[in-house]
Amino acid sequence: MTAADKILTLAQVDAWVEAERATGHRIGFTCGAFDVMHAGHAHYLGEARALCDGLLVAVNSDESIQRYKNPLRPVNPWKERAFVVASLASCDRVTMLDEDRPLSLLVRWKPELYLKGGDYASSSLRSASAVAAYGGRTVVIPAEFGSSTTAMFERIQALAVHAAPERAPAAEPRGLVLLDRDGTLIRDAGFDPSQVELLPGVIEALRMLQSAGFRLCLVTNQQGIGIGYFGYRDFVEGNRKLLRALGEAGIAIAKIYFCPHSMGEHCTCRKPAPGMIVRALRDQNVPPDRCFVIGDSVQDMEAAQSAGCHGLYVGPSGPACPSLAIVEAARRIVEG
Ligand SMILES: [Mg+2]
Repeated sequence: MTAADKILTLAQVDAWVEAERATGHRIGFTCGAFDVMHAGHAHYLGEARALCDGLLVAVNSDESIQRYKNPLRPVNPWKERAFVVASLASCDRVTMLDEDRPLSLLVRWKPELYLKGGDYASSSLRSASAVAAYGGRTVVIPAEFGSSTTAMFERIQALAVHAAPERAPAAEPRGLVLLDRDGTLIRDAGFDPSQVELLPGVIEALRMLQSAGFRLCLVTNQQGIGIGYFGYRDFVEGNRKLLRALGEAGIAIAKIYFCPHSMGEHCTCRKPAPGMIVRALRDQNVPPDRCFVIGDSVQDMEAAQSAGCHGLYVGPSGPACPSLAIVEAARRIVEG
């Protein structure tokens, strides 16, 4: 049987459960995101399989992970996560868990064993009582290897920073430049995050700033997320295109600060509020008088002023708003 053959719809699992029961097999059930598979996962699934005759693994859908874990996760889409799980000898069948908790699936199939990895001991209590109610048993398998996806991400990030020392920002930057994104670095495409078109002069300006010793970050309002016009993943995908285009020109962005809220949420991060800028100053350890905000809107300038930073306006010219080209803005910062 191939890995793809092991991946079943809920209705197909109904038939599989029935066939397993008919041959007297004890069914084990477990669930999880299995986003970036590590030794801890493989160990726990192996132990789970040893306790039953057939192991069914419900892999969380992308949407359920975004709801209960993190709107930026998963790293890998469901189709690929399910395929990796199904490729393990310990896993007999794989299906989708589209809810935040497995309760309805447990009640549907009434597996003899409900198996959970060690770090889930406390969160599975409610499901455990439902399992006990139909005569099943919950078994918590202690974690082995101490591996965690979060720890892996941190190590990958650290390695990436050390792998490119020529691009690592100087320990003590000359200053910090906070760049608005839409209308400043890329053409403002409204609520279409897939459109990433660098504006004229951006590469030249950012190169000038970077080689003069300034650290570069993005500070961007993304109300489209809060209103629901697009998702976190669309926004990250757009940024990936932008970072690649800048990276090809040797330009590194140290961090992206973004506000996902709609205007109606009255947050403290959405420009003209200074929240994102204040956070960037703290994270990057740069005093406000050595911080410059480049933006194409009055809100960018108000946020800079509220945080005590210098604002450089590169938007459309108006009677009250003398505008600069972005290259000219960079030159003024560099020349002090
Ligand atoms: Mg803008």
